[in-house]
Amino acid sequence: MTYRSFPIGSRERPLQVAIVGSGPSGFYAADTLLKQKGLHLKVDMFERMAMPYGLVRYGVAPDHQKTKQVIRVYEATARDARFRLFGNVQVGRDLQVKELREHYDQIVYAVGCESDRRLDIAGEDLPGSHTATAFVAWYNGHPDHRDDLFDLSARRVAVVGVGNVAMDVTRILVQDPQALASTDIAEHALQALRKSEVEEVLVLGRRGPVQAKFTPREIREIGDLSGVDLAVGPEDLELDPFSRSQLEKGGFARRNYEYLKEQVCRKGRRGHRRVRLRFFTSPVEILGKQGRVGSVRMERNRLVWDEQGQSRCVGTGVIENIDVGLVFRSVGYRGIPIPDVPFDERKGLIPNAAGRVLRPPGDDTGTSEYVVGWIKRGPSGLIGANKRDSVETVRGMMEDIRGRTARSLPEGNHEVLERQLMERGIRPTHFRDWQLIDAEERDRGRARGKVREKITDPEEVASLLKTSQCREEGRSLG
Ligand code: NAP
Repeated sequence: MTYRSFPIGSRERPLQVAIVGSGPSGFYAADTLLKQKGLHLKVDMFERMAMPYGLVRYGVAPDHQKTKQVIRVYEATARDARFRLFGNVQVGRDLQVKELREHYDQIVYAVGCESDRRLDIAGEDLPGSHTATAFVAWYNGHPDHRDDLFDLSARRVAVVGVGNVAMDVTRILVQDPQALASTDIAEHALQALRKSEVEEVLVLGRRGPVQAKFTPREIREIGDLSGVDLAVGPEDLELDPFSRSQLEKGGFARRNYEYLKEQVCRKGRRGHRRVRLRFFTSPVEILGKQGRVGSVRMERNRLVWDEQGQSRCVGTGVIENIDVGLVFRSVGYRGIPIPDVPFDERKGLIPNAAGRVLRPPGDDTGTSEYVVGWIKRGPSGLIGANKRDSVETVRGMMEDIRGRTARSLPEGNHEVLERQLMERGIRPTHFRDWQLIDAEERDRGRARGKVREKITDPEEVASLLKTSQCREEGRSLG
């Protein structure tokens, strides 16, 4: 049988796109592709977890339910008949990139940044020193972290870093767990937080308050918590001339700074939990006590500025030790490589130009490959920032297919991958599976007065899906 050539994206030869990753950037890329006028296409999305939505499901804090509502937008995309979800499929393990290249004209990597930056200090790996992202994944019911243990009998906890993840972790540690009881927080986390003995969270920023990465809403949220005192020392709000000139530009930094000034010298109230912000302070060592975190050794910093107006911190030699029972390192995410895809080790990203993956000269795979989201530009920006970013990448994808032709696809081509996966013992989860789990989680949540009760055990998910499949088969036979 011979196949004729047609323009890629025509009715006779639809464009075939694979998107790897089902978080916000992947869904925005899918949505932008599906909205291209006159383009015939099929979009398959691969996700290593059984359930979709990446950081929206497993990263956004449970007390930020409004943020999670963005899922409704992604669901509308997933309902499009030209879209298919393949959950439970890890590209690079269950399915190789070279196999994807055989099936698709274009591949979009939307894998985010799944690992963490390191502090590179002694004691970083002591028991009781954790990445903030592990804690976030634990309270959000991520199956890989459901059995993690955090010793919340510690009275004082250090959180290193002053970004929004640090704010999330701090807020979850100090707020009244009852305020989380109706959210979708994982039940194991809610129970552990109810027994928590944490009294104080010490948040360490290596540069000054003007350079803090948290946003005004997030710092205010902590200050507004009932039963919690937020404090910052006056010496930490003293600014050098450059920082002062940055404040004059207004924006987030100015709003943060003005808010922090209101917190200076706030006295702690009896029975209140306390959040103490320390700026110009770097941990230089985490010291052990009886085999686990006992204290953190910190050095006071000063800022130095380069000619481009960038600041970095330099130690002053002034050292202090403070007892802590737990440390959360919240110093940013980092991408991890996908086998057979270029990776910039220094930056922790896939090298790209405006979303087009850059391959070394002579290394041409024939398939066009792209990136969106954090693995494209680095782990920064709120969820909405991924939309702009995905639009830019899709623009490049559309330019690249212009004028390209390909042979029509063999009958049944669309089912080949599914068959290959099943032969490997992998049962991909599809959007209808998610809908079923979604309904089950909401039902379980309703019974407990919660938004949803996440099912965190992959075996339970598999067994629920199997039961429903058997029921469906029984119905169709009957
Ligand atoms: P981030 O905003 O980049 O903050 C990382 C923090 O770690 C910075 O304060 C950074 O200080 C510090 N840091 C880095 N290396 C350090 C080191 N060696 N020693 C001490 N401190 C160090 O990252 P993130 O908090 O992980 O957040 C990632 C993105 O997700 C951000 O865009 C954030 O806004 C977003 N997010 C938003 C929300 C929300 O909207 N509620 C919640 C969570 C996350 P320097 O500035 O000095 O490098």
